[in-house]
Amino acid sequence: MKKQLIFHEKFYNEYTFDPAAKLGRMESIIKEFSDFEIITPSPALEEKILLVHTEDHLVRVRNELDEAYSIALLAAGGAILAADYAIEHQPMFAVIRPPGHHASPDGYWGFCFFNNLAIAVRHAALKNTLIIDFDLHFGDGSSNTFVNDSEITYYSCEGATSESFITNMEHFLSQQKNVDLLAVSAGFDRHIDDWGGLLSTEDYFTIGKILKAFDEKNGANRRFACLEGGYNHNVLGKNVRSFIDGFY
Ligand SMILES: [Zn+2]
Repeated sequence: MKKQLIFHEKFYNEYTFDPAAKLGRMESIIKEFSDFEIITPSPALEEKILLVHTEDHLVRVRNELDEAYSIALLAAGGAILAADYAIEHQPMFAVIRPPGHHASPDGYWGFCFFNNLAIAVRHAALKNTLIIDFDLHFGDGSSNTFVNDSEITYYSCEGATSESFITNMEHFLSQQKNVDLLAVSAGFDRHIDDWGGLLSTEDYFTIGKILKAFDEKNGANRRFACLEGGYNHNVLGKNVRSFIDGFY
């Protein structure tokens, strides 16, 4: 069977004037996956958005984004579909935008509108869920969403060097047990040729492989990942491919 990932052609469109929405960003990723089968999501129902966000938030985003509102719903739908595959024990990556991890229940910034991953985690409704975020930026929206939820753990990867970044993550994982669902906020803006200037393309393969090994051994073999940041179109696709090659 061909390997699969989630994507929709509508994500090619520029929907706002921020770096996450730029033309060419999605093309740089999809061209690396000609050997994959593309699975297309449906837009998330508003009731799914409300699993994480307030009604006020939803209305604000709808008014602010106008036509692009449907793209934001589609991104959330992509994350939900990825979680559905993970529940059935098939690892899945969602190439979606706008990204989500800076969207809190009642606020948003940083190119994010709805917290795609958080919505998918709530939708999956499994007991012990672990969120690993390796984006350059702290996922304040995800952290805020689950701060009072004892069953959902949010971990933002940190490290001054690529070695410590990976060993810190491994150390954290070594303390985790009985994980029912592993959800990964996959941002690639920490790459050596991107904003963060730290990780190599090979490091993303290593991170993916470590997460897979953890999930198969100490988790429930249920894992999915959603695209967050990553802004250098020359390297983004290769980084996503490298991560997926380790993660699947
Ligand atoms: Zn970022």
